[in-house]
Amino acid sequence: MSAKPADATRPRAGGDTKKVHIADTALTRQNWYKHVNWLNVTFILGIPLYGCIQALWVPLQMKTAIWAVIYYFFTGLGITAGYHRLWAHCSYSARLPLRIWLAAVGGGAVEGSIRWWARGHRAHHRYTDTDKDPYSVRKGLLYSHLGWMVMKQNPKRIGRTDISDLNEDPVVQWQHRNYIQTVIAMGLIVPMLVAGLGWGDWWGGFVYAGILRIFFVQQATFCVNSLAHWLGDQPFDDRNSPRDHVITALVTLGEGYHNFHHEFPSDYRNAIEWHQYDPTKWTIWIWKQMGLAYDLKKFRANEIEKGRVQQLQKKIDQKRARLDWGVPLDQLPVMEWDDYVDQAKNGRGLVAIAGVVHDVTDFIKDHPGGKAMINSGIGKDATAMFNGGIYYHSNAAHNLLSTMRVGVIRGGCEVEIWKRAQKEGTTEYVRDETGQRIVRAGEQVTKIPEPIPTADAA
Ligand SMILES: [Zn+2]
Ligand SMILES: [Zn+2]
Repeated sequence: MSAKPADATRPRAGGDTKKVHIADTALTRQNWYKHVNWLNVTFILGIPLYGCIQALWVPLQMKTAIWAVIYYFFTGLGITAGYHRLWAHCSYSARLPLRIWLAAVGGGAVEGSIRWWARGHRAHHRYTDTDKDPYSVRKGLLYSHLGWMVMKQNPKRIGRTDISDLNEDPVVQWQHRNYIQTVIAMGLIVPMLVAGLGWGDWWGGFVYAGILRIFFVQQATFCVNSLAHWLGDQPFDDRNSPRDHVITALVTLGEGYHNFHHEFPSDYRNAIEWHQYDPTKWTIWIWKQMGLAYDLKKFRANEIEKGRVQQLQKKIDQKRARLDWGVPLDQLPVMEWDDYVDQAKNGRGLVAIAGVVHDVTDFIKDHPGGKAMINSGIGKDATAMFNGGIYYHSNAAHNLLSTMRVGVIRGGCEVEIWKRAQKEGTTEYVRDETGQRIVRAGEQVTKIPEPIPTADAA
């Protein structure tokens, strides 16, 4: 069924099945309120604002403050150890009591159901930084932190992921079906009950351990989507945005080693060094000792190191590319030997070493071995002199020399070393991933393996 183009402008009787999602229309002064996800605005901005206002009247008791911090860790770990590392990534397995606990306290963090959260997070990993990433940092830091929830998103835009395992988990299903009840019970009633029954501070429990604690847990864990894709180093891969930083780790209960995490998502750890802050990892490990968690997954150190070495290599390549290694040999003009000798005779300070001609005119006065020595090589084949005949030049000297090269002597002429190299095919060079030649110490073209003894050096 295809409509003629003219029909498209006419009003139709009945609903249009291809209705455009509000997120795919331009934001204007008339329709902006339709773009806003008001339910989320209530949960992540409205209720916290109400809590802040209430806090002006409700005094904060010490016991309630301590309880709020403890409950902050419980609910925060519900997200990091539960929603994230258990359900989104299956980086370990948990026995039923622990799964129920994590589904409960995770619900108390008020960040959506496990099913909804894990699905979005799997899309985030699969389509990182693309349009299908539900909280792509490429759309801005604020978008990745809050904007993606505050503004309506077209659910069809989010990348597809497999959540069949979550659909088979009765705890996940139960929590998804009873999500609002879970939020009210674990987000507000439980923290209020503990403070109320414990030390009579009902209202304080509600405001501080309930509402304001929700606000802090939300903002902290949202940082995994924003800060962890914006601040820090990329020791494993720098092609995408995830980064490692201790500040993010401190804020997010250890989720701050996010470059590692995106490379090795099914590892139950985020921090691999003992001194890095990852309380989520420590907690999972304790649960294992208690028999509540098992099958903790880890990538082999060998695999982790490979990634690190490759990234280091890439950084070295970038550093190397910024340095002057001299004109590449294949881009140098070819000179006849006689032409070389003639030019040197006519006052140009040319020195041929290993078949490569160098213009040392401006360097003669700076030569550490003195003017006379360098002058003695001009217009000659100075290969042997340079490589030990007179002085066994340093690695730095070979490097410096390469920046002065201006030509190569035509093959099959006077320069024996160059000839030999061409014959043996040893002019094949190691190149980095951008095709730049890698010149290792001792492998400069002017360097010959054995010092050449000459008559006057003997
Ligand atoms: Zn991420
Ligand atoms: Zn993740």
